[in-house]
Amino acid sequence: METSESLRTGRLSVVLPAYNEEESVPLAADVIGNLLTRAGIDHELIFVNDGSRDHTWRAIQEAAARRPQVRGIRFSRNFGKEAAIFAGLAQARGDCCVVLDCDLQHPPEKILEMYSLWQQGWQVVEGIKVSRGKESPLHTLAAKTFYRFLSGATRLDMSHASDFKLLDRRAVDVLVAMREKNAFFRALSSWIGFDTTQVEFEVQPRAAGQSKWSLRSLTRYAVTNLAAFSTAPLQIVTILGVLVFLCSLVLGCWSLWQKINGQALEGFTTVILLLLLIGSALMVCLGILGYYIAKIYEEIKDRPRYIVADGCGGKDGYER
Ligand code: UDP
Ligand code: MG
Repeated sequence: METSESLRTGRLSVVLPAYNEEESVPLAADVIGNLLTRAGIDHELIFVNDGSRDHTWRAIQEAAARRPQVRGIRFSRNFGKEAAIFAGLAQARGDCCVVLDCDLQHPPEKILEMYSLWQQGWQVVEGIKVSRGKESPLHTLAAKTFYRFLSGATRLDMSHASDFKLLDRRAVDVLVAMREKNAFFRALSSWIGFDTTQVEFEVQPRAAGQSKWSLRSLTRYAVTNLAAFSTAPLQIVTILGVLVFLCSLVLGCWSLWQKINGQALEGFTTVILLLLLIGSALMVCLGILGYYIAKIYEEIKDRPRYIVADGCGGKDGYER
């Protein structure tokens, strides 16, 4: 932490990923815009339209026409929330950036608290969920399991982590410079370190619209992000191999013993079971290897993380 006595001031960029949020966008622009104006914080609001199928882009353009602080980026298609966050960060010009959901589930008042912590010298302020809001028990269980694995893989406690964060310009520059395609913002922004403090918040009910996550997309999200942070599944292959080898030693000795005693014909069941066991273990292992090779392939192709089709708003325009 910086030890200067005086508080620093600076411009705040707010990054808001938006996918099918035509109702939330005007609301978020007004609520957050008014809040920051009242607090006298110089700010810009960057909405990233992540290939919405509704009129989100029009809502962003209208908000930009109403408020000079609003800027918009439009993706050429849906690239996912992570890509939207990184695109927003790349566009941000502030001395610090806050990332939050544009459905107002992350309480905007907390931005002021985060900003004042930044003024005191903190470089990363993480929003920590004290409760997860309304969810089904199955969802909570799945989320808990995911975060247990993720915390193990990153060696950071991720159980209450969220995408609601404030990042200093230096942290933003580091994140934007990362070339990783499967960047998982929530974990990467902790992984980079810096002077970090936390702010607790309650997850609010959605302001409008519905959650964009299906069971399928959540599962894919979990697997991708675990693989991005951990190579542990590859080690499972080794462990399985050792286990099967030990079993085969025991069974081998036993078969030899039977042969010596002249009872060799028995044991077809064992052969079939062994074939099934080893066969399936091998296939699972090949699958895991294949998955990681696929990820390497994706990274090596070096395709952009997202494609920007258009931009709007801002006093000095949108930067390509
Ligand atoms: N979002 C996005 N791209 C997507 C899915 C979601 O930019 O493909 C945005 C969405 O507009 C919202 C935030 O990510 O601002 C969180 O999404 P959502 O509210 O659906 O998730 P939940 O709060 O249910 O976890
Ligand atoms: Mg939400």
